[in-house]
Amino acid sequence: MNNSLIVAFDFPTRAPADVLLKQLNPALCRIKIGKEMFTRYGPALVESCMHEGFEVFLDLKFHDIPNTVAGACRAAADLGVWMVNVHASGGRRMLDAAREALEQANSSTLLIAVTVLTSLAADELAEIGFRDSPEKTVFQLAQMAQAAGLSGVVCSPREAQVLRSALGQDFLLVTPGVRPLGADTDDQRRVMTPLEALQAGASYLVIGRPITGAPDPLQALLAIHQNMYGEA
Ligand code: C5P
Repeated sequence: MNNSLIVAFDFPTRAPADVLLKQLNPALCRIKIGKEMFTRYGPALVESCMHEGFEVFLDLKFHDIPNTVAGACRAAADLGVWMVNVHASGGRRMLDAAREALEQANSSTLLIAVTVLTSLAADELAEIGFRDSPEKTVFQLAQMAQAAGLSGVVCSPREAQVLRSALGQDFLLVTPGVRPLGADTDDQRRVMTPLEALQAGASYLVIGRPITGAPDPLQALLAIHQNMYGEA
């Protein structure tokens, strides 16, 4: 069964997450826990997801001195999450420390990097001192993440094609900004459909509200599978 969908859990309370854990099917998706839910509900929520059979992407985007990020990655590995991420702009030594921490923990937890936040426009990037275009900066940071031995990057589906052809078939590209045809785009800009994102080279698609906000979330998940693979 193809399982490249990651459902983003972004709720201010636990109740809707607990309901969804019973509705969704772990053979069809993984779950992304980000800063909001982790800050409120912590490891207990991650453990509940895993208890229901879901693999968890812990999307905390660590960015700190190498020693601190290494410790955070070790904690993620101990928790048993499937994937964790860091900011590539934390620098090469930070990326190396994160990867080494997971290796030393003998962990199968995948480590990926965030390159440039897609919320940042070119003028905002310049304001924080990045002189190159967003595209060039994304490319450079993704190359550095690969050189540091990370498994992949988070990127916009718009960036997937270029990164896929430059970085090879084995590098993971995890893409948010995906919307099924006809779905509300919410606050996302320049979205792609699940099939388009796959065809552009995405390895995993992060989709939140079109599934979590659907009247029947499992049905929404199945429809996306159908669009991507012609099967459910
Ligand atoms: O509900 P929606 O499908 O827009 O959720 C997308 C998820 O991916 C959210 O958790 C959001 O924070 C995350 N994300 C994103 N764009 C990025 C990075 C992360 O939408 N560039």
